[in-house]
Amino acid sequence: MSTPKLRLVPPVEQPADGLLRSWAQRNSDRTTPETPPAVGQLRFAFYGRVSTEDHQDPVSSRAWQRTRAEALIAGAGRITVEFFDVGRSRVLPWAARPAAAALIAALADPDREFDAIVVGEAERAFYGPQYEQMAPIFARHGVRVWVPDVGGPVDPEIGSLEELMALLGILSKREIVRARIRTVTSMTILTEKQGRFLGGRAPFGYRLVPIKPHPNPTHARWGRMQLGLAPDPTTAPIVEWMFAQRLAGMSYARIARALNDAHIPTPSAADRERNRHRAGLAWTVTSVAAILTNPRYTGHEVWQRTRTDHELIDPANTTLGHRDQVRHNRPDQWIISTDIAHTPLVSTADFIAVQGMRARPDAAKHEYLLAGLLICSACGRRMESCYANDHPGYRCRHGQNSATSPQNPRRLTYVREDRVLEHLAAMLIRLRMSEHTDDPPRRPIHEPATPTASETITFLRHNAITLTYNSDAKTLTANTPEKESIAI
Ligand SMILES: [Zn+2]
Repeated sequence: MSTPKLRLVPPVEQPADGLLRSWAQRNSDRTTPETPPAVGQLRFAFYGRVSTEDHQDPVSSRAWQRTRAEALIAGAGRITVEFFDVGRSRVLPWAARPAAAALIAALADPDREFDAIVVGEAERAFYGPQYEQMAPIFARHGVRVWVPDVGGPVDPEIGSLEELMALLGILSKREIVRARIRTVTSMTILTEKQGRFLGGRAPFGYRLVPIKPHPNPTHARWGRMQLGLAPDPTTAPIVEWMFAQRLAGMSYARIARALNDAHIPTPSAADRERNRHRAGLAWTVTSVAAILTNPRYTGHEVWQRTRTDHELIDPANTTLGHRDQVRHNRPDQWIISTDIAHTPLVSTADFIAVQGMRARPDAAKHEYLLAGLLICSACGRRMESCYANDHPGYRCRHGQNSATSPQNPRRLTYVREDRVLEHLAAMLIRLRMSEHTDDPPRRPIHEPATPTASETITFLRHNAITLTYNSDAKTLTANTPEKESIAI
């Protein structure tokens, strides 16, 4: 009977450890260096890192990282020098973390005081492809990295580097992934099966009310109620009106202006207690769009409309590290409750119709023949193309914002396109007449005596001539030295 050898094995916490352990075991016969250094004599540089994102005290975090590192190298050697980064995120590359950068610099020193590197936790040292980036440097200086998660030194010369990197990638991201899987799973069940309100504040148009006893019997016994959404008597009609206007072809900007003109409180103003940090005094295109694209107004509970991507700042330069980016998921990635969870403010059919439409599809298709050619005489701005009352035209808001309702509104300047076109040929006749007296001529043109509107437009664009529209005098004036003018 031989005494079984005791081996310190970290407690099994998660399946990912098991995966890693089995991989490490398959490779255990190959991780021993060909020329092993004298066992017990190795000098180690300890690398650790703590950042504020961990919500950890740097002193205790450093202590347990170092303890884990010392446990790993017990019998192999001792730590002779320490490199520890405080307040540096894992997404930063090594060169951007001061202690890690110092460690890289020390590698090149032939008199350095260490033979190997040990870390307390792989994911603290290497995020994503960082090990892959650093491995050639370690190899060049003959230094191996000891990692507790692997159970010893990592030898990049053996085994599949890709496999190793995939595992290190899993390690570095596993907490994020685990948390996401846990959340997504429970949220999916709650949303799909129960259509439960998942917290947060009620969308504009709704308010939170107790709807039934809490599903947890203990909470229910205490008289706690499950909260749900119910239409708010004041704001629900506004949401219904907004969907109706959009269905009728009104643009987001026009809806915003109409709401501001009617002094309808914005979602932020309506929920002042929760939004004290936001100004939110006026409706904007963004706040209108946020409501008209929110599927929860159909009465369904919807989750996962956004996600946080952890991505490379520049895929062409991996050393720049990562950043978090909140993105909108495609609707096919949404989790939608099977049943109606709360009173709808818009029918599902109408909601879908609104998502597919643009303001006035016919307006979008129309080609504005005079785009860029007309200047507003009141303010000197270029007039903008607009489609109103089934006619293309041009308008100027004199610099006023599209969504705000100004204190002292000036009347808009507006002119219909067909009204300009029917008089435009007269402008070309005038321009040609003055052209023949010019010295030298601007551009010799030999055209028939009675020009058309489109010839005039071509001439104006060729010669970079703009027309200033005076809405009081109903005149168009060319910006030529002669200031040719026509009445329209
Ligand atoms: Zn103007």
